[in-house]
Amino acid sequence: MKPSPRTFHVKSFGCQMNVYDGDRMTELLEAEGLKAAADAETADLVVLNTCHIREKAAEKVYSDIGRLVKRETGRAPMIAVAGCVAQAEGAEIPRRAPAVDIVVGPQAYHNLPALVREAAAGRTALDTDMPALSKFGALPARRRQAPGAFLTVQEGCDKFCTYCVVPYTRGAELSRPFTAIVDEAKALVDAGAREITLLGQNVNAWREDGRGLDELIRALDAIPGLARIRYTTSHPNDMTEGLIRAHAEVEKLMPYLHLPVQSGSDRVLRAMNRSHSADSYLRILERVRAARPDIAISGDFIVGFPGETEAEFEETLRIVEAVNYAQAFSFKYSARPGTPAAGMADQVPLAVMDERLQRLQALLNAQQLAFNQASVGRRTQVLIERVGRKPGQMLGKSPWLQSVHLETDAAIGDLVEVELLAAGPNSLAGAALVREAA
Ligand code: SAM
Ligand code: SF4
Repeated sequence: MKPSPRTFHVKSFGCQMNVYDGDRMTELLEAEGLKAAADAETADLVVLNTCHIREKAAEKVYSDIGRLVKRETGRAPMIAVAGCVAQAEGAEIPRRAPAVDIVVGPQAYHNLPALVREAAAGRTALDTDMPALSKFGALPARRRQAPGAFLTVQEGCDKFCTYCVVPYTRGAELSRPFTAIVDEAKALVDAGAREITLLGQNVNAWREDGRGLDELIRALDAIPGLARIRYTTSHPNDMTEGLIRAHAEVEKLMPYLHLPVQSGSDRVLRAMNRSHSADSYLRILERVRAARPDIAISGDFIVGFPGETEAEFEETLRIVEAVNYAQAFSFKYSARPGTPAAGMADQVPLAVMDERLQRLQALLNAQQLAFNQASVGRRTQVLIERVGRKPGQMLGKSPWLQSVHLETDAAIGDLVEVELLAAGPNSLAGAALVREAA
């Protein structure tokens, strides 16, 4: 039996929604009187907040559990597996890894303190219920924010892309109430946030009484002290005219759009059940760029979906060329248990996927570098997020979500006027502009 923990460590894998959930679990455990430990090596309780989106991500949890069992301290911590692997595998986890004390799904983590007490009493504690959004009301108030904060506004997904586990691990699409979101945004700003990124698996599907994400963004725009608003991840089918207009009209809404297309082949898109075509995706981006010409476009791609031919993969290269991405995330298809695509014929060999991914990433990397290079000479604002490695150096983000390093005596959370001087593939160098005396 493991004693009641006094210290804890939360380790989040995967998407930004997991980062948000990890922050909320931290606040919850602190409200119970537990103290954050420096690392997993010394903590009495370790929460592994897992990701199930691809096989590699899901298997990481078992290697982490193995490491925790053999800690140098010679004493295994209480181990909680949270997140999407917990939801997908449930009671199978302690069967496969008996050192696990708690299994808690993404919709049930507000019950973590009770589960910790159950585990301290010597029972394996399991909660993978999916009550509709009840966890948010049961979580403590937001506190201590970095300049950039995440705020989950929408959870789950009803789109059922044939490769994806999200509809099974995160449940049906649900929007949090407008007032709860605005109140949480105000609390985040009061706690130090200057930029809020609204999160959802399909964030632009957020709805309440006929209102869409654009109206939520306009409400946040009115919060004094909030300087920047972002949102991610969007689905092409939920890119409404109102949201596109918000990019032209709301100054605090940053010129950046993450809009995954997954493939450039209409046959593959149909087999993926994406319900948009390559052409309809390009038409949406035309409208977005007409509204906000300098917008940075980012996306997600899957190579090697079952049955993908060389010619179909080349259509993906063509759409990348047509869009000209500022940033992108690309993955080898990973068969996920229980999804329709996992049972499809013609699974693509790993070596073919590897080779296609390399070609795609070479193109995307070149586009990212070109986008950064085209920013050189721009005068813009950088939100300072942390201290850099060199003395006097600070790191922050441009409106286009580029990392910028500069020498300045500005503090974390300041917005600094900057000229962008030089560009690399992953970051830019900037110089703080001295303001003229009024
Ligand atoms: N809702 C978002 C959308 O529709 O674009 C994406 C959510 S998902 C967490 C993030 C990305 O993971 C997807 O856009 C997709 O590119 C990738 N992904 C999802 N399932 C995958 C799988 N089985 N194999 C490889 N990549 C996958
Ligand atoms: Fe997964 Fe996104 Fe498709 Fe939903 S829309 S099933 S989250 S890839």
